[in-house]
Amino acid sequence: MRLANIKRDGGAVPAAAVVRGDGTLLEVGAALRAHAALRGQEPGLPTGVTPMEIIGRLSEYRAALSQAEEALTRAGRLAEFTRPVDTPLASPIPRPNRILAIGRNYAEHARELGNAVPDDPIVFQKASTCVVGPDEAIEMPAWVGRVDYEGELLVVLGSGGKNIAEADAMGLVAAYSVFNDVTARERQRAAQEKKHPWFLAKSMDTFGPLGPHLVTADQIADPHALRVTLSVNGETRQDDTTGSMIYRIPTLIAFLSRWMRLEAGDVIATGTPSGVGPLTPGDVVEVTVEGVGTLRNPVVSVD
Ligand code: MG
Repeated sequence: MRLANIKRDGGAVPAAAVVRGDGTLLEVGAALRAHAALRGQEPGLPTGVTPMEIIGRLSEYRAALSQAEEALTRAGRLAEFTRPVDTPLASPIPRPNRILAIGRNYAEHARELGNAVPDDPIVFQKASTCVVGPDEAIEMPAWVGRVDYEGELLVVLGSGGKNIAEADAMGLVAAYSVFNDVTARERQRAAQEKKHPWFLAKSMDTFGPLGPHLVTADQIADPHALRVTLSVNGETRQDDTTGSMIYRIPTLIAFLSRWMRLEAGDVIATGTPSGVGPLTPGDVVEVTVEGVGTLRNPVVSVD
């Protein structure tokens, strides 16, 4: 299943939707409520749900939605709950539980920044408040200096645990999405030189574009065989596959879970291939992970 969050005006929480094969969106809550009303019943599942809550009870929502779709089609009412392909979307996870990010997980990328290939995963955190959705602006204040894009596959955990064995690790993965680990590179470098943390260089508001969809794990046959590309203004800058990761997803999950109890809703940004480079206000940056989606964001300057 492919899930999205339909943006609503007036600060209302977004509406979760299923993305159909043709890109149109079926509003989950409204469709389930209408189906229940047709039967003169209360909905059997919560209808004010987020994409992550749907993933948490995936088989139940899948069954309920297929029944609702069938009944609403028979009643000639499905179009009432269907939104067009170009409907504005919020991020499918506007505030992840934690953003755990992996540094230098592609050897070519480590080399291009003059860094050694790490002998253990390098883990840092980005503030969950830096997330924006598809087509939302990456805001660049001039004082922050050079800002880089980093296209990445995002792993979304549907359950947690401590001391997870590599053999069990993929069982925690509920979904995948696309992430741009936007980085204030000059500030990060300056912090690294002083041996200070570089949390802020990774955590500026809007520096975590995430989306456009969540794709459930059952839709991705091999997450280590996906092409990752990034373009700026239509020009390709990054092009590799997730097969080039130094530390693969089960290793990352096992490693992280030795240190911290992983939780449902944690996301892991799995690192970026080579080809990182700067963004300039006016640019449009697009990250595509094969089979997962394309995440597009404009870059704007702010004071
Ligand atoms: Mg990164």
